[in-house]
Amino acid sequence: MTEFAARVEGISISGIREVFEAAGEDAINLGLGQPDFPTPEHARSAAVEAIQSGQVDAYTSNKGTESLREAISHAYDRDHGIDVDPGNVIATSGGSEALHLAVEAHVDPGEEVIFPDPGFVSYDALTRLADGVPKPVPLREDLTLDPATVEETITEDTAAFVVNSPANPTGAVQSEADIREFARIADEHDVLCISDEVYEHIVFEGEHHSPIEYAESDNVVVVGACSKTYSMTGWRLGWVTGSNRRVERMLRVHQYMQACASAPAQYAAEAALTGPREPVEEMVTAFEERRDVVLDGLEDAGLSVPKPSGAFYVMPKVPDGWVDELIDSGVVAVPGDAFGANGAGYARLSYATGMEELKEALAIIDDVTARVQ
Ligand code: PLP
Repeated sequence: MTEFAARVEGISISGIREVFEAAGEDAINLGLGQPDFPTPEHARSAAVEAIQSGQVDAYTSNKGTESLREAISHAYDRDHGIDVDPGNVIATSGGSEALHLAVEAHVDPGEEVIFPDPGFVSYDALTRLADGVPKPVPLREDLTLDPATVEETITEDTAAFVVNSPANPTGAVQSEADIREFARIADEHDVLCISDEVYEHIVFEGEHHSPIEYAESDNVVVVGACSKTYSMTGWRLGWVTGSNRRVERMLRVHQYMQACASAPAQYAAEAALTGPREPVEEMVTAFEERRDVVLDGLEDAGLSVPKPSGAFYVMPKVPDGWVDELIDSGVVAVPGDAFGANGAGYARLSYATGMEELKEALAIIDDVTARVQ
């Protein structure tokens, strides 16, 4: 008998934390994975009201309140013209739990999960927690995921592949043609596509598309969250949607690991989804302005960086030792290999930081890049 389960021994705490701890208190932090905006006032007030009226004293239905699931369904229709049955939505503890449900409910021990590398850190860890086999695949030069790479990697043991557009850590947005291809691959190979769309509203060029719009089978599940769109990372409210039979399987996992998402957060989320859109529009406009400033700054410093069209990250190619030197000079960035082996030689910079700090950071980046070649 071993003291700890092998599946836990096989994963480690995200490298991102270590970077924060290495930096001094006065450092400019370009390592953050959350918006620097407040949660919209109407969402906060809805939670306060629900708490004071006693509405949140009890469990909600396992799937979440009916009104929240209707709000999520309505938002898909309003924002993307996607038809989602409120009965096929599970409100979760953030997008993180939603990803966990998708993997747990669909991946048997020994089955493979294909995901982008560099990619969001959870995909590898959740696959291992399900005793599955991680299959990280490299990205194109422009840091998007090539559907052909996914298709070539599929074997008879593949249970699922993950699409993440807009993406963390690259900021890349997949073209509509790619998204259609992912849907076709899910259909033709009878493999599940887990579409992580937590950045669906932070898109600067083009429009957000989801494989669920195009798939003819029910081989797509979509993960969403209030975390990034409404600056609600601390509230822990996300969701997963898919066909009835898939949601029913994911609900079995959710029921025993969570019972229901936090009730105050559900009320806040409903208000965020149905309330005024201005806070989201203002945030996205601010991110786009910052993206442009950061891109110019990085290019002026001589770094090569594909133009990201969404989320709030850029991922330039950087020389050896660049991230360490930058951190020593007072700017925190995350080394690309924290997101997978193919991230080596890159750094992730988040621009969820005020413009003044960003400009200061860019001056330091210029200086560091001139020194570290
Ligand atoms: N998916 C991606 C791509 C993310 O970047 C994150 C958070 O950083 C999540 C999912 C998890 O989101 P949440 O905070 O809602 O659990």
